[in-house]
Amino acid sequence: QPEQWREIMNKKMRFPPELLNAIQEGRIELLCGLLRTGDGIIRQLDESEDRQWREALNLSIRLGNEDAMDALLQGVKFDFRQIHEALLVAVDTNQPKVVKRLLDRLDQEKGNKMDVRSFSQAIFDRSIDDSQFAPGVTPLTLACQKDLYEIVTMLTQKGHVIPWPHKISCACLECRNGRQYDLLKFSLSRINTYRGIASRAYLSVTSNDAMLSAFSLSRELRKLSQKEPEFKQPQYLSLEQLCQEFAVELLGMCRNQSEVTTILNSCGDESQDALDEQAFEEGIPNLSRLRLAVNYNQKQFVAHPICQQVLSSIWCGNLAGWRGSRTIWKLLVSVGIFFTMPFLCLVYWVAPKSKAGKILKIPVIKFLLHSASYLWFLITLLGESITMEMYRDKFASRQQNILHSSFHMVWVVFFWYECKEVWIEGLRSYFLDWWNCLDVMVLSMYLASFALRVLIMLKGHFLCHDQSNSDECIYFTQTRDNWHQEDPQLISEVLFAVTSMLSFTRLAYILPAHESLGTLQISIGKMIDDMMFMFILMIIGTAFLCGINNVYVPYVISPHLGFNETFNFLFWTMFGVANQDYVDMPQFVLAEFVGRILYGIFTLVIVIVLLNMLIAMITNSFQKIEDDADVEWKFARSKLYLSYFREGLTMPVPFNIIPSPKAIFYILGIFKRICCCCNYNSEQKYPPIASVSSDKGSEDSLPYRQQVIRALVQRYIESARREFEETKRKIGNRITELNKAVSRMHIEMKGIQQLLLTDGHAPNDALTKDGSSVLGKYIIGAKNNFRG
Ligand SMILES: [Zn+2]
Repeated sequence: QPEQWREIMNKKMRFPPELLNAIQEGRIELLCGLLRTGDGIIRQLDESEDRQWREALNLSIRLGNEDAMDALLQGVKFDFRQIHEALLVAVDTNQPKVVKRLLDRLDQEKGNKMDVRSFSQAIFDRSIDDSQFAPGVTPLTLACQKDLYEIVTMLTQKGHVIPWPHKISCACLECRNGRQYDLLKFSLSRINTYRGIASRAYLSVTSNDAMLSAFSLSRELRKLSQKEPEFKQPQYLSLEQLCQEFAVELLGMCRNQSEVTTILNSCGDESQDALDEQAFEEGIPNLSRLRLAVNYNQKQFVAHPICQQVLSSIWCGNLAGWRGSRTIWKLLVSVGIFFTMPFLCLVYWVAPKSKAGKILKIPVIKFLLHSASYLWFLITLLGESITMEMYRDKFASRQQNILHSSFHMVWVVFFWYECKEVWIEGLRSYFLDWWNCLDVMVLSMYLASFALRVLIMLKGHFLCHDQSNSDECIYFTQTRDNWHQEDPQLISEVLFAVTSMLSFTRLAYILPAHESLGTLQISIGKMIDDMMFMFILMIIGTAFLCGINNVYVPYVISPHLGFNETFNFLFWTMFGVANQDYVDMPQFVLAEFVGRILYGIFTLVIVIVLLNMLIAMITNSFQKIEDDADVEWKFARSKLYLSYFREGLTMPVPFNIIPSPKAIFYILGIFKRICCCCNYNSEQKYPPIASVSSDKGSEDSLPYRQQVIRALVQRYIESARREFEETKRKIGNRITELNKAVSRMHIEMKGIQQLLLTDGHAPNDALTKDGSSVLGKYIIGAKNNFRG
């Protein structure tokens, strides 16, 4: 009964063990023979029963044995998942040809486009997976992670996409099921998907504007790292870093100025670009992409030499000599501007369109003007302090002239300036900058202080106006000693004192313009970041405050009487300026003993904590600063530069309240724009790229910006490929040398074997020694070859 026999044979021979050897040794005839044992094609009945066919296919692909793979594909009926895994293996070993063949095979199988979604169904597979690929890895994500441009292109052309992961808190059915079924697999597949999306290959192949996608992706990843802190450190942050680097590398592919200006001045959305145009001074490009990078915190991108060059060229405008000139000269000009500021402002007010007016509009001059105005403000504050000392007795009473100490209020008209800034920037982005928050606080405190003083003056004036010596009028004429604690004048004075101190903090806004000062400022700012140690210090302080206070409080005779004194004592102990007699109380031995021990422990602990704090602060922030001091400073400086490129606000503070003729023109311009906005159309500013590819009709219709982006991406891919080829060539050379050495060794070995055989069975001592020495020599030679 041949039929029955064949049945048994089929069952037994479903996976002949010789097969693996045949594949490994590349013996195709044997393989074909083994496959042809049944009649026709071997069918797999139960796929989960044995994965061995799969392994055979994977092995043949991994070995690069294409004939064996063909034989297997023809001889065995593989199902969808098996081919999927084979595809993964082919991608993993970077064999575009094999990938193509497998894809074609899949196409045949499905007839139409393959169902990519069914890959994600693997989440619901609970069996212990002996596949070597993590959950959620599809051929496309794997190729992306390995930056295989060719395969990525091939796969995307076949319609593969990486579906964007849902939000972390998504409540849709799919996510809920996935989370409930297997939380780890769920998050792993999320991360693997992000790994694919954030790869250079995926960004450059699929995205229209790879740089913008990299920006937004990096922002998204940073947000995710906060939402999913479990995967923050190695996963999300390294991906984010990858995105940032990719954008920087793309920028580095620019070859001429026109490309750079195109890239930096457009950020995709054309209507947005047109709107942004109005925010900057005329003659200054809108730099929308650069501003986007600043908003998205792309420090490396902003600090790239290309961006920095563009920024500083705009910063100096047509004062070409400024950049190269010496420090002394710059200093002289600054001092000159400082003293002639009112005059310069007058010139600008009268003739903003004149040559002098235009020079004043150059950002660097504008910056100097504003800094001069600020310095004048500080000088006024100092001057007022000195005046107050001169008229001390007047200031002690209510007789003071409000004008004596309110000259600084001229500057507080700053407020007007700030309002204008808010108007231009929009409220939200305005308060995103912490310095602006501080500004608003300082200004409102100045205003409050001033308002209180005006109030008290008016009240005194009206109360004592009608000569009636009422109680309140008498209170107003009394000296300071008799005032209430909450007297408005006292409050206003305290407010003024604090605010005048805070006013100096705005200097921090100016400092980044200078290299070493800016870097220093950043390093100090980072140290303040580490102030969480203060919290620990506070806990320790409070604990001991409580303990020591409770030890001594019942003894009325002791020199310390309360909470306040104990606090004082402990606080100054931290800095070593406290009287140790405080804990002495010889009459009560036990209390003294405990108190002294507590105090001793406190001193010890505080020394350790403070010392550690110091060490941690110094090493930590120094390390951080060492790493990217330059980048941080350039980023801060770029922010400063950009804030001075904005339109308007040319006049420094005390003068900006006067409406200039220019403002009237500006308002007229707004009206005009409202009228004309219906038929507003932007014309193309740049000539179309003159390239080899211009003969293609479809390319011409693309805007210049996209052509540039495409060219950049092309160059990037090209350079990556070249690098890859280079390394491959180097390794290939080594391998061929190694192969040669091995084959030579093979021949020699055969020779020795022959020699031994002809000599008979008796082993010859000298010959074996000779043979082993030959072998050793070859092994050493091969090793050297490989190392060299
Ligand atoms: Zn969802």
